[in-house]
Amino acid sequence: MTDNTCVKNGLAARMAARIKAGGPISAGAFMNEALFDPREGFYATKDPIGAGEDFITAPEISQIFGELTGLWLAGCWHNMGRPNPVRLIELGPGRGTMMKDILRAARAVPEFAAALDITLVEASPALMTVQAGRLADAPCPVGWVSALESAPKGPALIIGNEFLDCLPVRQFVRHEEAWHERLVGLGDDGHFDFVRSAAPASALELDMIPPSLRDAKDGEIAECRPAIDSIIDHLAIRFKAAPGAALFIDYGPMNSETGDTLQAITAHKKVDPLAAPGTADITARVDFAQIAHQGRAAGLACAGPVTQGNWLKKLGLEYRAADLMRKNPDQKARLARQVHRLTDRDEMGDLFKVIALYGKGQPAPEGF
Ligand code: SAH
Repeated sequence: MTDNTCVKNGLAARMAARIKAGGPISAGAFMNEALFDPREGFYATKDPIGAGEDFITAPEISQIFGELTGLWLAGCWHNMGRPNPVRLIELGPGRGTMMKDILRAARAVPEFAAALDITLVEASPALMTVQAGRLADAPCPVGWVSALESAPKGPALIIGNEFLDCLPVRQFVRHEEAWHERLVGLGDDGHFDFVRSAAPASALELDMIPPSLRDAKDGEIAECRPAIDSIIDHLAIRFKAAPGAALFIDYGPMNSETGDTLQAITAHKKVDPLAAPGTADITARVDFAQIAHQGRAAGLACAGPVTQGNWLKKLGLEYRAADLMRKNPDQKARLARQVHRLTDRDEMGDLFKVIALYGKGQPAPEGF
């Protein structure tokens, strides 16, 4: 290895040394280290979310996003029999903006606001600090855990916006009528490169590939996310023991599709995901059909997936925007731009999907 990214960047050099010694690693292991290495991981060390940072998310675009989610949650709480306390658990809360907007909207339903007890599931120490600042004046208890399984028991409302997309993916490539894992190794010049595992996937690994993709043509790639499987299993157990609903919003197709969807973003621009780990957000699209399929198989009820645009419109996005425009006429153009970004089919409206998994027997949630 001479003059290349692997030696310029400390994290990359450490990862390259590990691969040299132990062999290629899964795409998911690469993602995990690139995002959460304690010293240089993309999320672990800084706050990358916002207009002037690396990428922007729906709650950062408009307060209406979190407010409507707050009212949606109040509806679910009502459907669950108005439990007090109710655990409001957010997965990957980023800058805490959505939670802040949820709490503002919750004030419209005082009994709901009074029942809330918040748990934030966050892996990044840097973002935890930002969240603590944002929610310092929250009118209810706020705690942190590092995994959903550690959140307090009891009736729960669980939300995750752009959380699932950064969970590690494993990729498998179809080769001579078998599936082989697509791993990250080192090319001749010392750069990270994809390689195909020599051994075909085990029966357990094959089981993770979405059923509709298993007969794909040679050369096609299928992705899976073991961490989502674990989350669904956890929700099934949790919502059997106590009422609950979970809402996930993310980017991805309605139906399972083949393809390598690993992507990296730095300063709002797409870059090579393997080029410089730790300096870019690495995500992959979320397979919503697979979530619905697995949720139902685990015994959960499922609403959606629907597009973000349709979901927000059904929850009254346009009315809320019109109300804000009436109260702040000088903000009219800005609010119209926000609505456009969240709902237009060429912006986030169609690409992003919304799905809810909830306890069987509970009334269906709104917006689907
Ligand atoms: N929901 C926020 C942030 C999205 S970015 C928003 O919409 O703006 C992804 C968030 O998930 C970050 O807070 C990141 O640190 C967190 N995250 C990613 N993987 C995680 C994991 N395995 N466990 C806990 N938090 C995680």
